Amino acid sequence: MSGEFYDASVEKMGRDELMALQSRRLVSQVHRIYENAPFYREKWDAAGVHPDDIRSIEDITKLPFVRKEELREAQERYGQFGRLATAPRETWAELHPSTGTTGRQVGTLWTKGDVERITDFTARLLWMQGVRSHHVIQNGFSLGLWVAGIAVHYAAQRLGAFTIPIGAISAEKQIEMFQEWRSDVFFATPSFGVYIAKRMADKGLSGKDIPLSLGSFGGEPGAEVEATRRLLEEGLGITALDIYGLAEIGPTMAAECGAKSGLHWTEDHHYVEIVDPTTGEPVPEGKQGVLVITHLTREGTPMIRYWTNDIARLDTATCACGRTHARSPGGILGRVDDLIIVKGTNFYPAQVEEVVRGTPGLADEFRLRIKDTGAGFVDCTLVVEVEAQGEATDILTRLRRAVKERIGVTLPVETVPVGTLERTEFKARRVIREKSSA
Ligand SMILES: [Zn+2]
Repeated sequence: MSGEFYDASVEKMGRDELMALQSRRLVSQVHRIYENAPFYREKWDAAGVHPDDIRSIEDITKLPFVRKEELREAQERYGQFGRLATAPRETWAELHPSTGTTGRQVGTLWTKGDVERITDFTARLLWMQGVRSHHVIQNGFSLGLWVAGIAVHYAAQRLGAFTIPIGAISAEKQIEMFQEWRSDVFFATPSFGVYIAKRMADKGLSGKDIPLSLGSFGGEPGAEVEATRRLLEEGLGITALDIYGLAEIGPTMAAECGAKSGLHWTEDHHYVEIVDPTTGEPVPEGKQGVLVITHLTREGTPMIRYWTNDIARLDTATCACGRTHARSPGGILGRVDDLIIVKGTNFYPAQVEEVVRGTPGLADEFRLRIKDTGAGFVDCTLVVEVEAQGEATDILTRLRRAVKERIGVTLPVETVPVGTLERTEFKARRVIREKSSA
């Protein structure tokens, strides 16, 4: 690790060489899994596919998808990892269940080898984002079972940086620590970052009053929503970059570089596909679809073709930064479940976020209230907080126009007093689905 690259031999690997590496890793992975995990053996037998049918990475489409419900079901039936763990007990290192809001949490296992690889590729991504050993890292991700906090901690240690594992505690404390410990780099969810910037402004502080120069934001999309990025960058006086992970697959497996051209995948460890949400067929490069991820090196609870429900695009062209690993421009564009269809027009909450945060006179928070009106039709109301009450009529007119332009449909708008909508230190829930009263 020197200069721009943490490991140039991996980061600038030619695409052909990268695919050959992925092929080798997939082939050995599917054999190992088939022998050790009844979950996969039964699933693949039922689908009529055998590890011998997998000779290169392109054969991966022969394997069936894995969905979260299946994992939950298997764990309900068989306990612990649901016959999915493929590593001997003596190699186990850490348990990380998903932070599910409904149903049983899905446990994932990291072996000692997994911890080592996760630490290594996270350190590589942090280095790519500009983290160096002389930096003070304030880690405002939730710690404990949630995966990103601990992965960032390990990686910051690996890079030799002084680390403050503060966790997602109060904004006041975060601001105090920025000042006292002269923190250079901050990790948090974008919602929390925006909230801290707002609290600082309330206290008459600006980005100039704190030493932060870099923020890495994950746990939910947002850093790549340009209006949100602006709030983070201007409010905290930083460069704001995106970082991505999810519980079942793992933390921090993709991140934005300084070129801000999308999430770079760690393709030596994760094979990424984009498929049509309805047919499951691969979509042409550049088109958006469901993100499907395969663990090429995970030992504990490996996921093969895990259906993330996240929507993204893929670009395999070499980035301006010189890295060859594929990128998802714009980051995670939404969740399949969050897709809202009003009068035949599809959109994601992130598109509305862009408009709300780009409209002067509005506070940064909003909600989309969805009401089922039967026969597959929904009403969607946009709820916002108007800061400049005197100009409310003009602001709302501009907002309606901007929404119509951005997503192609007119939404009714409701206002509530500033501060009514909850600001969160974790992931924001901006879509509220109401049951129909019928
Ligand atoms: Zn790049």
